[in-house]
Amino acid sequence: MQLRIPGPTPCPDEVLKAIGRQMINHRGKEFGEMTNRIIPKLKQCFQTKNDVVILSTSGTGGLESAVVNTLSPGDKVLGISIGIFGDRFGECAKTYGAEVIPLKYEWGQTAKPDDVRKALKENPGVKAVLVTHNETSTGTTNPLKEIAKVVKEFDKLILVDAVSSLSSIDLPVDAWDLDVVVTGSQKGWMVPPGLAFVSISERGWKAHAEAKMPRFYFDFSRAKKFAADGQTPWTPTVSVFFGMDVALDMMLKEGLPNIFARHARVADKARAWVKSKGLQLLSVDERFASNTVTAVKAPDDMDVAKFTSTLRDEYKVVIAGGQGGMKGKVFRIGHLGFITDKDMDEIIAAMNGALPKAKK
Ligand code: PLP
Repeated sequence: MQLRIPGPTPCPDEVLKAIGRQMINHRGKEFGEMTNRIIPKLKQCFQTKNDVVILSTSGTGGLESAVVNTLSPGDKVLGISIGIFGDRFGECAKTYGAEVIPLKYEWGQTAKPDDVRKALKENPGVKAVLVTHNETSTGTTNPLKEIAKVVKEFDKLILVDAVSSLSSIDLPVDAWDLDVVVTGSQKGWMVPPGLAFVSISERGWKAHAEAKMPRFYFDFSRAKKFAADGQTPWTPTVSVFFGMDVALDMMLKEGLPNIFARHARVADKARAWVKSKGLQLLSVDERFASNTVTAVKAPDDMDVAKFTSTLRDEYKVVIAGGQGGMKGKVFRIGHLGFITDKDMDEIIAAMNGALPKAKK
């Protein structure tokens, strides 16, 4: 079976073997040594010298941690959204009492740095900017470097959802001066769901010291205190740690530039297929089409549910439909993490077979 949804993604055999290991004491020496191996490797992937904390939760938990650890109720934040995950990040901040000023775009669009500048000029009281690097619902990647530059012109905090990009698409956290960056294990990391990784800059820690939103499980201070001994405050998803230790070795052996190039190559193949069939990407400007997930507009005569079920049942390829209001109108091919050129060729062959059978 080719599992090609944008997460969870397939795991290599080495990872599957590692996660099948017997449990160990999460307060013991072996676990501490493993965490102390994982964190420096993670920092290499984040391209950062900042602290990186590991939380046993999914991506959303990581995003919630970014919000509650840096903000106080009543804080104004600029909530950039180019799709469902951008909306959700803002909703999370609102739930904890932040005043969210939305900067919202149509599906398929990216955020424009000039709009961010204008919004920050008009709202001098904004404390932080929330932004999605790669919007998984629309298969579109924001120009994060340029957005971050604008945010820093105003010396504001930037909180980044990099759940479906980090480790697959270049995201140099220090070079782009990003304060809190969140990713999730089940995306480009080649391991199962269960862990979120979060980097925190000095500015992020300063905000944390003043932040008053309620937090307990996701408290960065507690995470940092325990990390000093290679531990986590609460019982962690030990098996996913086993997997990460192995997956990170595989990733660093391949090398980040090679990983990014592989994702770009595979995504190019997906986009070339879309065009060859006379179909349209959801991304309005192809330069911003994602290298981890390709979202395709379904033509009026296409039955998306039939396409995905035929792919699954006849061709053993699992792709995703559209989310929320995009259901029935969009299909999405996940191509992140453990994927080769050959995998993409197989997926394309399967889609060639299933597409004619999906006519309404
Ligand atoms: N943000 C983005 C960009 C995502 O793609 C996802 C998951 O697909 C999430 C957040 C939420 O992550 P999770 O489902 O792991 O909580």
